Amino acid sequence: LEEGARSCLLRSRHRLEQDIKPSYLMDHMVSDGVLTVDEEERIRTQDQAVALLELLLRKDNRAYISFYNAMVKEAYNDLANLLHRDLPRVLPEAHFRSSTSIEGGVPQRPVVFVSRPELVNRVREKLYRLQKEPGWVTVFGMAGSGKSVLAAEAARHHGLLEECFPGGIHWLSIGQLDKPDLLVKIQLLCFRLEQSLDSQSLHRTPNTLDEAKERLRFLMLRRYPRALLILDDIWDSTVLKAFDLHCRILLTTRNRSLTNSVSGAIYEVEVESGLDENKGMEILALYTNTKLHGLPEEARSIVRECKGSPLVVSLIGALLKEKPNRWPYYLRQLQQKQFKRIRKSSSYDYDALDQAMAASIEVLPDEHRELYKDLTVLEKDIRVPAKVLSVLWELEPEEVEDILEEFVNKSLLFVDSHNKPYLYYLHDLQLDFLVEQNRTQLESLHKKVVHQYQQHYRDGPPTSGDEDCLYWIRFLTYHMAKANLFQELYSLMFSLDWVSTKAQLMGPAFLINDYVEYGPILDKEFQEFLSLSGHQLEQRPFPDVVQLALSQPHTSEVYRQALLQARDQAGTG
Ligand code: ADP
Repeated sequence: LEEGARSCLLRSRHRLEQDIKPSYLMDHMVSDGVLTVDEEERIRTQDQAVALLELLLRKDNRAYISFYNAMVKEAYNDLANLLHRDLPRVLPEAHFRSSTSIEGGVPQRPVVFVSRPELVNRVREKLYRLQKEPGWVTVFGMAGSGKSVLAAEAARHHGLLEECFPGGIHWLSIGQLDKPDLLVKIQLLCFRLEQSLDSQSLHRTPNTLDEAKERLRFLMLRRYPRALLILDDIWDSTVLKAFDLHCRILLTTRNRSLTNSVSGAIYEVEVESGLDENKGMEILALYTNTKLHGLPEEARSIVRECKGSPLVVSLIGALLKEKPNRWPYYLRQLQQKQFKRIRKSSSYDYDALDQAMAASIEVLPDEHRELYKDLTVLEKDIRVPAKVLSVLWELEPEEVEDILEEFVNKSLLFVDSHNKPYLYYLHDLQLDFLVEQNRTQLESLHKKVVHQYQQHYRDGPPTSGDEDCLYWIRFLTYHMAKANLFQELYSLMFSLDWVSTKAQLMGPAFLINDYVEYGPILDKEFQEFLSLSGHQLEQRPFPDVVQLALSQPHTSEVYRQALLQARDQAGTG
């Protein structure tokens, strides 16, 4: 730890010890990988604030920075200011990624978190079996039972990282995918892996699933032997086969039998029925800031109604945090059977979730309830930055952040704060609920997205590689198709401007995906053009799309469009 930072800690020690609540701060610090879970446990058994500061003094600059960030996140503004002046200068990236830090996008703990030591240990114990040879660890159980949180927690273990996975841990959210999506996922993973090698060689993006698999196989075997891939929420065995590369994998799934078709050793951990009752109670206690034995008598019944689902307990906990005298009321709400799902999953009872979602949405202010409804249009497993929603809602990004924070605090939304800008997402089951609720309005909700986009970007599509731009470039076609705006979709995909921007920013896979997906409503010629010129769209430097199109038959629509653009360019340039 730098001298200045240390003396600042010493100076402010007394105030810090009095005012901070270490358990929340430690959550962030564990997520940042500057505090080990063992250290956290040890601190919990002592006078926490004193012990945490004692430990901090013996740690490095990263720990100080993480501690500071945690204070900011937990809104200890005055205290954070005390520390601010002596923040160590940010270390160079390479240094920051010390060999023992956890990389690769492992998600942080949820806002309120209870540990499930027995399960975590079971997963870790299985992971240790992958030390000597490759294989699979499957965490299976029903939706919303806490599999992802568990997998992330199991991965946060320095011993494991050092002894078994010195190649690092790389997290991939999978979800329900079709083939092009899968290709894109693997491309992005390869890209990420190559980037952190700092290798100068620029590889061609693999373009088919087979090529991508080959590339990944090479990377995993040659460059990242003994790395762990975590595949979160796998639905489909074809997806799994793409990763059947003789490497080390932890996967979460609802479907236990998926691994039947892959080769290598398989170890399984079942997340049976979600949380046990006491853990559920602990979540309620944390949300309401009460001691476990101080909970009212309804608490246990509420947890039972939630049927062990940590997601549902979290929703109710967030409600009770704001209205601490509503225990009986929310219990009654949970007991109502108000919703009928059309698609019932065979293995899971959604009633409690639906009730809890409805209750949480109901307490939102009217205007925010409408905004939450807009989230119905998001694709599953897609994370969006606040700026996208600021276009959709026509609000200042700061206002949007406040609203999203409210949703997050109510467990109605989740945030990936590893990423800058933060990315927001819904749990699968929440999205299911929204889609079910707003079934009749889907088209108009998507229309709104397209309309707001067109308003905001009336002078031309976004061209930067920022996360919000990438969202539009990737999903605008999807929203148009869902909105039944076929004319718009047609002219967008016919616009060479759009095509070249999309190919340039995202590589050809997404573009080709669009054509596969929406092909039936598109011009045949254009598809031919793409299939003939597609490979040229991967070249760097990027080829002139207009020139490519001009080499098409002169009778074609593509040629006509290109000619128009060429004249345009000549006119302005
Ligand atoms: P799954 O992957 O099984 O669908 P998740 O791991 O995404 O489920 O968990 C769903 C939600 O339940 C989380 O977003 C979080 O709100 C809550 N949750 C899960 N595990 C815990 C835990 N150990 N402590 C507190 N909340 C949890």
